[in-house]
Amino acid sequence: MSSAPVADGAIAVDGSQIVGVGKRASLVARFHDARAQDFGEAAIIPGLVNTHSHLELTALRGFLEDVEGNFLAWLMKLTLARQYHMTPDDLYVSAAWGAVEAARAGVTCMADAGDAAITNMRALRDVGFRGIVHQESFGPDPALAHDQLEKLKEKVGQLRELETELVKAGVSPHAPYSVCARQLELVTDYALAQKLPLTIHASESEAEELFMFEGTGPFAEALALRGIEWKAPGISTIQYLQQHGVMRARPLLAHCVRVNEKDLEIIKAEDARIAHCPKSNAKLGHGSASYTGFLRHEIRTGFGSDSVASNNTCDIMDEARTALTISRARGDVIGDDEMVKAEQALLTATAGGARALGLENRIGTLDEGMQADFAAIALARAHQLPIYDPINTLIHSTSGRDVLLTVVAGREIFKEGRVQTIDEDRLRARIREIGGRIKA
Ligand SMILES: [Zn+2]
Repeated sequence: MSSAPVADGAIAVDGSQIVGVGKRASLVARFHDARAQDFGEAAIIPGLVNTHSHLELTALRGFLEDVEGNFLAWLMKLTLARQYHMTPDDLYVSAAWGAVEAARAGVTCMADAGDAAITNMRALRDVGFRGIVHQESFGPDPALAHDQLEKLKEKVGQLRELETELVKAGVSPHAPYSVCARQLELVTDYALAQKLPLTIHASESEAEELFMFEGTGPFAEALALRGIEWKAPGISTIQYLQQHGVMRARPLLAHCVRVNEKDLEIIKAEDARIAHCPKSNAKLGHGSASYTGFLRHEIRTGFGSDSVASNNTCDIMDEARTALTISRARGDVIGDDEMVKAEQALLTATAGGARALGLENRIGTLDEGMQADFAAIALARAHQLPIYDPINTLIHSTSGRDVLLTVVAGREIFKEGRVQTIDEDRLRARIREIGGRIKA
């Protein structure tokens, strides 16, 4: 990410840090008593960064396809299954299985958001990830905004007790249609006072657009049914978030499908960040975001899988390819009339994600002094050969399933076909059992 690919390259790791990068022969000479590993024909890349996930929903992968196309029904079916058919231990297994999937796919850092954030943080810690776990806050009723804030504070207090050097807490007011303006303001003030990172779903769907501009559509109808008054502000989500002070927290904005030039200018001027989730946006029928618009405005942007209930896999290589191909399918260009290139997609998947999370001084590139967060990916499989350019091969014909090794802060969390840090067999049996129960 910081130089051209190094042929016959290697990296040297001491403890949690990268201490050497270059030709294998020169590193072997420099660190002659180090224990060496050889991955054969493979690429060593910075660990992939997933800037938007909901780990606790992993058990709902494949459960919601029959209600896709009706976002409110989709959210309702998800919420009911999660609330009434998953025990606290089910939620843990669900989150841990999601973390297992991510480790196998070369992801080393996750920005997760969930109602069960404490559970998700435990799962990330147990598998050995780096990341930020955002406690979600819901509440469309302005009368309950203060109560909801108190609930959030209590949960975040517990979450902070679980923080480690690698895993930190954040907050996530869910979305402008599920959290009232007053609560957005209160949560933002709290996040700023506590120096907590903030993430929010923003400008995701047509339903949200109708809600903001016209005060109509499924979200407005759902509030009316609950007797909650809603007066549409008649402005975009991004302008609305700015109006209510959320932009002061430089939020990580998930989706940003329906943003215009003015919105992008605001996002850039406020130094907010974007979690670009092209597969989730497409699969749920929400449309496609302007990846080149994000890049042209030099907005800090990473890729997000979103939950596997909408995606259906946590695979940031796949996300990178999808972002590139959808951008080209839209006919979008950048700079001198150029389509997005593989180099750019790989950059967004790694260093871009690190910048989006404010972690660029520690992760996202393979340089001396950086944290040893990286993945080794096979480059000699049937779908990859022959290779003319390793970056094109990575983006256009490689997926997370080609990952050989995943390392976080010098610790091997996935190698030799197995996640090293947790009992995969027990989790596999449990996730099948949970799925069977939910289906029944
Ligand atoms: Zn989401």
